Amino acid sequence: MSSTVSFSHDVPIVIVGAGPVGMILAYQLDRLGVPCLLAERSLEISKWPKLDLTNRKSMELFRILEITQEYRDLDGSVSQDATFDTQFATRLDGKGHLLANWKLPSSKGQRDNIKNVNDGTQCAEAGQRCMQPVFETWLRKKLQTKSNISSKFGWTYLVHTEGDQGVSTTFVDQNGEYHVLHSKYLIACDGGGSRIRKTARIPMTGGQMPMRMHLVHFRSRQFAEERSFGKYWHTFCSHGGVILDQNDDDIFTAHLPTHLLPEGPVDPAEVVYRIMAPAGERHEIKIDEIYAHSEWAPNFSIAKQYHTDTMRVILAGDSAHRMPPHGGYGMNSGVVDAVDLGWRLAAIVKGYGGDLLLKSYNMERRPMQIRTLQRAHRHIMEHIELAQMYPQDNNPIDDDTIEGQELRARIGKFLEESGPETEDRGVEIDLRYHSPTIYPDGTPELEWTPDRYRPSTRPGSRAPHVFMKDGETSIYDLFGAEWTLVHFVDDDVESVNTASSSDSFVAAASRLKIPISRVIIKEEPHVRRIWERNMVLVRPDTHVAWRADNIWGLNIDEILQVISGQKEFSRFQPSRASADAEANFEALVKGITDGVTGGATIAQDDIA
Ligand SMILES: Cc1cc2nc3c(=O)[nH]c(=O)nc-3n(C[C@H](O)[C@H](O)[C@H](O)COP(=O)(O)OP(=O)(O)OC[C@H]3O[C@@H](n4cnc5c(N)ncnc54)[C@H](O)[C@@H]3O)c2cc1C
Repeated sequence: MSSTVSFSHDVPIVIVGAGPVGMILAYQLDRLGVPCLLAERSLEISKWPKLDLTNRKSMELFRILEITQEYRDLDGSVSQDATFDTQFATRLDGKGHLLANWKLPSSKGQRDNIKNVNDGTQCAEAGQRCMQPVFETWLRKKLQTKSNISSKFGWTYLVHTEGDQGVSTTFVDQNGEYHVLHSKYLIACDGGGSRIRKTARIPMTGGQMPMRMHLVHFRSRQFAEERSFGKYWHTFCSHGGVILDQNDDDIFTAHLPTHLLPEGPVDPAEVVYRIMAPAGERHEIKIDEIYAHSEWAPNFSIAKQYHTDTMRVILAGDSAHRMPPHGGYGMNSGVVDAVDLGWRLAAIVKGYGGDLLLKSYNMERRPMQIRTLQRAHRHIMEHIELAQMYPQDNNPIDDDTIEGQELRARIGKFLEESGPETEDRGVEIDLRYHSPTIYPDGTPELEWTPDRYRPSTRPGSRAPHVFMKDGETSIYDLFGAEWTLVHFVDDDVESVNTASSSDSFVAAASRLKIPISRVIIKEEPHVRRIWERNMVLVRPDTHVAWRADNIWGLNIDEILQVISGQKEFSRFQPSRASADAEANFEALVKGITDGVTGGATIAQDDIA
């Protein structure tokens, strides 16, 4: 028989969902000394190899969480020398042509490049190839050792009720016992089909895209050895399927459009045979093991708001936004949400942060996500255009004729101009936040483009990474776990810009109980030039909250109250650009989704 167990307000924060986003959020909270309860319905790690790219931005955040090297060294993380090349081929059975190859450096090559181009335009870290189950297994184990995290695996969220003071959440565990938890905040990291979001009645803009893929995760030595065009990370085939190399060796994931499969129950081996040959044909190879297979459908949508009106229930990761895999933005966006939301919740629970920090989580993160979705949309449109370039009947693509050669050249040129989908530094790292908890300095915003990152410490921007003179230490390595006041002190003995000139700022922060660590930097003119001001206040998510050359005549208390969400910036103006982006986005989703199933659960959240 089931029984009810009630807990009181012991846990300030309940996180539902131990996918990548819920786990990173729990990790961040633990690091900031705030307890949480992490509830996950599954006892086992999901075996679906969804994520395979942890991008630069996530790796940079992992650097401040001090887990980057451990992640790279994991048994299962792909080698630092492995390629990031994306190939486009007509067929994979040895009879085809390579149409284009988006060549990208390995993780090691990217890191070398970051060192060589130390002008502030780079991320502090290179991307990392790794399958989601490897990543999740590692993190889950890590969380077990953290004293502030109470993990409840096998607990399924059922329902919650929200009041001004907090949330009551009901779970059922594997033994059928019910648990009612009372917490200040309930965080929905329960994925795209989020039951919490539905209970909270937060609608989505967007929906499911009109296509279905069948995924097969398999190991094949023969497939590994018979690569027609050398090693790759991804290979897109002319029939619309794609194959991912998951370990730089013999483990792959094939995604085939379901309309290319015969009617009836799906034989996963057939998916592999058909991915290798042109549409309607098959090429048999020896498959050593099939790990998993399922049908899935891409979804393109975003929650209307990342929190409920009381701000007691908050969304992060796929529960807040869903996108197709193009560009590898899914989990990577969720990691940014988690690190960001973590410090805000910690600030409030510790007593120095105001509720405005939660309002500004929505105001800052959501417009950036719309930008990301718009970029993913661009990638989808390029794939649609590419598909239209392949003739449907009597396709001469592999013919040794002038017609065949011209078609291959035309498609190759289109692809070279289209370029790699994972190189959009503007989308990935040029994140610029605009909210009443950023203290502006009146400087105009630099031009923004999706492909480039323009280093700046203009308030709201991501602080630029630069290596110090030693060539090894990133300025990021000097940040404290919470707030950091970076103070560049003049070398000139006559200068008034001495270390003590920021004393009153630090003293005021201490009075307001804002945990700021001060970093005094001397004799680093290169870094100082890129950082643009003598004093830059960096938030725990690496974004700049305020900057100035000195603090003479400034109302320091007001600055600190604004950046900690205790008081709204009095001259705050909502962003016109965000409002326009929202309107454009609504028009955009109408073109590529059904517009209604943004919140639907499709075959166990798209992966059955
Ligand atoms: C084919 C494919 C390839 C992808 N490749 C990439 C990539 O290269 N890079 C990238 O960044 N992203 C990629 N993604 C997207 C990425 O997988 C997701 O964005 C990511 O998993 C989202 O993480 P999450 O923690 O928000 O949600 P999820 O990973 O969905 O985790 C949600 C968790 O909540 C749990 N849960 C759900 N409901 C309940 C409940 N009622 N009670 C308790 N627990 C519950 C689930 O069991 C699960 O563990 C890809 C996706 C697909 C489909």
